[in-house]
Amino acid sequence: MTEINEEELYKRALRVWGKEPQMLQVIEEMSELIKEILKNVNRKKDNVDEIIEEAADVEIMLGQLKCCYGITDKIRAYKAEKLKVIAKRLDDWEQKEKENDAKTA
Ligand SMILES: [Mg+2]
Repeated sequence: MTEINEEELYKRALRVWGKEPQMLQVIEEMSELIKEILKNVNRKKDNVDEIIEEAADVEIMLGQLKCCYGITDKIRAYKAEKLKVIAKRLDDWEQKEKENDAKTA
């Protein structure tokens, strides 16, 4: 089986199907994922398989979005910074919890 080069495939999709339709597809796939998450959380539906499918669709379409705007590297850098901020917030949060637990113990 030939290994698929994701970035080449995304560029090909944008070239063959067009940027605007593919960017609308990003929105469509995100809305499908949102719908499945809502079913799971609000209606307690056992739909993890659907969530997996729609999350994969969203990842694929985000790959195309990054190719479309040529922003893969910028997103990678921004994401790395955001992850540091989240890690710091979690550290602070957990520290406060420990302090609160120590006060109530
Ligand atoms: Mg889908």
